[in-house]
Amino acid sequence: MRSSMSSCTVILPALNEENVIEKAVAAIFSAFERVNLDIVIVDDGSTDGTWEKIKKISKDNPLVKGIRFTRNFGKEGAIMAGLHEAAGDCVIVMDSDLQFPPKTAVEMFELWHTDGYMVVEGVKIRRQKESFIYKLGASAFYKFLRRFAGLDMNNTSDFKLLDREVVELLKKMPERQSFFRAITGWTGVRSAKIYFTVQPRIGGATKWSYFRLMKFAVSSITSFTTLPMQLVTFTGFGFMLFALIMSVQTLWMKASGKAVAGFTTVIVLLLIVGSILMISLGVIGVYIAKIYDEIKFRPRYIVSEISWDDGRKSKGIKPDKDFMDILAGRKSHRE
Ligand code: UDP
Ligand code: MG
Repeated sequence: MRSSMSSCTVILPALNEENVIEKAVAAIFSAFERVNLDIVIVDDGSTDGTWEKIKKISKDNPLVKGIRFTRNFGKEGAIMAGLHEAAGDCVIVMDSDLQFPPKTAVEMFELWHTDGYMVVEGVKIRRQKESFIYKLGASAFYKFLRRFAGLDMNNTSDFKLLDREVVELLKKMPERQSFFRAITGWTGVRSAKIYFTVQPRIGGATKWSYFRLMKFAVSSITSFTTLPMQLVTFTGFGFMLFALIMSVQTLWMKASGKAVAGFTTVIVLLLIVGSILMISLGVIGVYIAKIYDEIKFRPRYIVSEISWDDGRKSKGIKPDKDFMDILAGRKSHRE
């Protein structure tokens, strides 16, 4: 049982959510009526009126803080920024489109509060209105991760409660391309699952195209396993075996005096070997790109503005002044 004074910070990553953000904040506050709650909204480079809305909410309610990025850095970056600014004894990450029910967030809080879990994971019960291709892709993706990276991620979501200690742990992880959904499972802390139904969006539109989903899948798989790279070697061995059999057959044909009608075989082999080589190089390329991104040590996001300059203290986030100065032309790169 944790202290009755325990506080909680809700993190809301938001990209072009001007239609829903106010409703979401109101719904979350009313659901958490009896909890010491504050909210950090991270505007991940919205191009609509989201930031104006966030500033207004934050001005009217001192319990809401807003962080604005210079451009779209992706939901993972937004979550990371939120974790750096969160002050609560526990942190709940949810979407800002109310697809994750605030009621479930309260249940997460209660589980954490009474049973002392370090992480409470939201697991989706039923996926609404998802196409066949999406379902097929999602299931292949989760099976692969489970089989080869040992991560059980089926129907997991970015809807999670994290204890303060886990937040501190995540903040220290040097990885640039973090993978929020799995990283808490990877740390192996004591966790609980809570099931919830994904609600339809109350406004705005989803940001996930098929292309984006595919990029996300590749990035997640390569973050947690190097197996695709080893597959290249295995395929190589398979082909050696194939080549041996073919050689024996060819030699036998020659020895038995039959004409070598091997044109088809040559073409087919050439095509197969060629495509496998290309795919293999691609796989290695993905990993090298990943190493390249990691060693550049670029920041995961750049903050252009915060909504609180009225005496409220920052916990870790401030606008990147140097960068903003350069953008505004007040300072040259060469100084
Ligand atoms: N989001 C974000 N940055 C992005 C994409 C999405 O901050 O680059 C936020 C978005 O505003 C929403 C949440 O992440 O709060 C989930 O996005 P979305 O609703 O588009 O995903 P879906 O629910 O369709 O899976
Ligand atoms: Mg959504």
